[in-house]
Amino acid sequence: MDPQVLEAKEEVLKTAQEMVRRGLVAGTSGNCSVRVPGTDLVVITPTSIEYERLLAEDMCVIDIKSAQAEGRYKPSIEINMHLTVYEARPEVGGIVHTHQTMGTAVAVAGKRIPPILEEQVFALYGAVELAEYAAPGTTDLAGNAVAALGHRNACLLAHHGVLAVGQKIRDALLHAEIVERAASIYIMSNIIGGPRIVPFMADQEPPPE
Ligand SMILES: [Zn+2]
Repeated sequence: MDPQVLEAKEEVLKTAQEMVRRGLVAGTSGNCSVRVPGTDLVVITPTSIEYERLLAEDMCVIDIKSAQAEGRYKPSIEINMHLTVYEARPEVGGIVHTHQTMGTAVAVAGKRIPPILEEQVFALYGAVELAEYAAPGTTDLAGNAVAALGHRNACLLAHHGVLAVGQKIRDALLHAEIVERAASIYIMSNIIGGPRIVPFMADQEPPPE
């Protein structure tokens, strides 16, 4: 097997297991992927199998252009969302989709996370916008996620979870963790009078509702 594909499979499995360990997903939920550098290939977690039971060789390989899959398991049902992001964002090399608690709490409230933390603005490039609801696995969800993501590194998925991207999959995982921290702080600061926008982002923010 191409050593780059093998390396991508190992990275995807390691990240999927790390997502479970860090409490960003439970059971078989969530998924993650890597674009194999210099190719049209994406390696993604398979659907409905616990990550601790999988081996690197069990990861699925998909051709972005033809959407042809190879591997003994079926790819994650969110494969559409991953492929659509890779097409829209050529610089993205890794994607993580989680069901993390605090990010999802903001998403089920139908809200976005405004730019409230410096680290959020520097790492994610601003607010964490909310993608409109669409059923899991649909092309509508993929389109809504890409629209909410824009040029930024993370978005919320209404009634569902979080999508984070990066140049490498380890960056995407870090970005998901920054979303969790920003979401927790956003929720907590609402208890004591409400968060304030990072000053240098204030002029880019829509007026409060
Ligand atoms: Zn999901």
